[in-house]
Amino acid sequence: MADNNSDPDCIFCKIVAGEIPAAIIFETDEVIAFMDAFPSSKGHALVIPRAHHPDVFEMPPSLLAICAQASQRLALASRKALQPDGMTVTQFNGAAAGQTVFHYHQHVTPRWEGQPRRSHGEHMADPEELKAIAAEIRAALD
Ligand code: AMP
Ligand code: ZN
Repeated sequence: MADNNSDPDCIFCKIVAGEIPAAIIFETDEVIAFMDAFPSSKGHALVIPRAHHPDVFEMPPSLLAICAQASQRLALASRKALQPDGMTVTQFNGAAAGQTVFHYHQHVTPRWEGQPRRSHGEHMADPEELKAIAAEIRAALD
């Protein structure tokens, strides 16, 4: 059965619906990968399921696996395009754990030696710059 879960008040559901803009890197029937608008480093991107599920506790296991595979595909392309020293692939569950958007998502964040990580959600990036980085990562996708 198709998973059409959606929440009209959810900002990521609005991205899925095309109601608000995002610098999209790639999309499939199940997931969308796009640039984080308040990046904690250059290339900080997110993978979300199209269907609204708040957190890891609520995610259908099969969709969780699809998100993990999409995160790996994104991480490989991001590494190839941006050549960071490392990459974090992470996600938060619950406000106490740092979650601010309650639609499941994985952060894929390139990291460079000696460059302290900005707290995510702090500094809004230039949308045109995000589109340019999204295009660089997209060009490196396998
Ligand atoms: P979390 O703290 O794990 O819930 O992270 C939510 C992430 O979503 C933060 O890194 C925000 O910068 C990011 N974010 C919030 N709104 C948007 C948006 N409209 N487009 C892209 N990223 C967003
Ligand atoms: Zn949602």
